Amino acid sequence: MAAIELKDIVKIYADRKRGTELLTIDHVDLSVDSNEFLCLLGPSGCGKSTLLNMIAGFETASSGTVSVAGKSITGPGADRGMVFQQATLMPWLNVWENIAFSLKLAGKSASEQREAAQPFIDMVKLGGFENHYPSELSGGMAQRVGIARALLLNPAVILMDEPFAALDAQTKIEMQEELVSIWQRHQGTVVFVTHSVDEALVLGSQVAVMTHRPGRIRELIKLDLPRP
Ligand code: ADP
Ligand code: ADP
Repeated sequence: MAAIELKDIVKIYADRKRGTELLTIDHVDLSVDSNEFLCLLGPSGCGKSTLLNMIAGFETASSGTVSVAGKSITGPGADRGMVFQQATLMPWLNVWENIAFSLKLAGKSASEQREAAQPFIDMVKLGGFENHYPSELSGGMAQRVGIARALLLNPAVILMDEPFAALDAQTKIEMQEELVSIWQRHQGTVVFVTHSVDEALVLGSQVAVMTHRPGRIRELIKLDLPRP
């Protein structure tokens, strides 16, 4: 059974400027096996975020079905962690409070939250920064918090929407290496949206190449690269 399955997905948006409809996603089928790192690659505006948001359950298809672990999804769920282009941290919460926020909502005590967050703080190398606030973090560190937060509930699937796009070149390379290393150690299925061919080839075990308007998956390339 596929970890993620998109079947015959169509998405039509209203084009308010022209008063017409815009076929954004045109009959996309995609099947992602467990523990694959799939990069969804294509030019800006081709519909990558739209597809990712459908897998996240943030957006619905005009027609077609999205299944995760064999079940048709109806909205967001703890089986899918999401990392956004901007880290979207809560400025009034420190690092570990941001990471564990979903546990706070679930009524867990501060000490339970702290304990649950710690392994993920270590995983993304933020030890020593637990009590720092978002305004005191660099862009790369803020994204590490976003990654730890997405991993907290041990979701089977991690969805990432250009998480390193706003980082400087050196930090980007470090974060890419770190992400591959985390993925190799912990496995899990990743869908990573990017418009960078370089990034897709560095990160992906597979690359799905999208075309623009209408958004289609043109090619699914399995890289089968040896990993260090
Ligand atoms: P990408 O992630 O590949 O840059 P998006 O999925 O964000 O592409 O967008 C695909 C296309 O759909 C773009 O033309 C965008 O303007 C359009 N679009 C995205 N969201 C909406 C929306 N809520 N309403 C209307 N058009 C939208
Ligand atoms: P990106 O290219 O980084 O994916 P976009 O600028 O396409 O980002 O989209 C940013 C947000 O704006 C998304 O939530 C998308 O759904 C929304 N959006 C994009 N295009 C439109 C549009 N034409 N009308 C309404 N909302 C849109």
